[in-house]
Amino acid sequence: MTEPVDENWLRPDFDPQSRFENLNDVEPEFWKHKKLEQMNKREWELLCDGCGKCCLNKLEIRGKIKFTNTYCRFLDCHSCLCKIYEHRFKKVPDCRDIDLNAVREKPRWLPKTCAYWLLDNGFDLPAWHPLVTRRAASVHEAAMSLQGRELVCETGVDDYENYLVYWADL
Ligand code: SF4
Ligand code: SF4
Repeated sequence: MTEPVDENWLRPDFDPQSRFENLNDVEPEFWKHKKLEQMNKREWELLCDGCGKCCLNKLEIRGKIKFTNTYCRFLDCHSCLCKIYEHRFKKVPDCRDIDLNAVREKPRWLPKTCAYWLLDNGFDLPAWHPLVTRRAASVHEAAMSLQGRELVCETGVDDYENYLVYWADL
């Protein structure tokens, strides 16, 4: 059971672009020559493209993860940011930390565009990734985030099987 959302936790003054403004403390294109397990916390955090797709509810059907277009009640669908980021594990017991185990878990539950999954599977970051463009908005402009999609808040949904989606980037 999750507790009611406290809108005061929303970070209206948080500017996603601030994550990519000053990258002087990380090696240029560090993701090209470091494995995930070699990355420090700062590098690891920078890899998240802010797509929000890991906050969709999913079902495991016949050994595969199927995504629904229902989203965690704490996701802000426009910014694709978690409204309670600092408190997420306390407030949402099944909110997952994105660590190496999560990235390597089978069946895969992260979207196939997720930077962690891509790098761990030998792919480079896509051209639209904010670390490449230095612009947080590029994930939205490339239509790779949840922004602008037809989504349903999980509140009140109990028939998740009726919300399955087959988007190409999941
Ligand atoms: S799917 Fe991956 S890249 Fe997208 S928000 Fe989740 S952790 Fe970040
Ligand atoms: S609580 Fe977890 S699943 Fe929900 S929006 Fe925040 S990060 Fe996503």
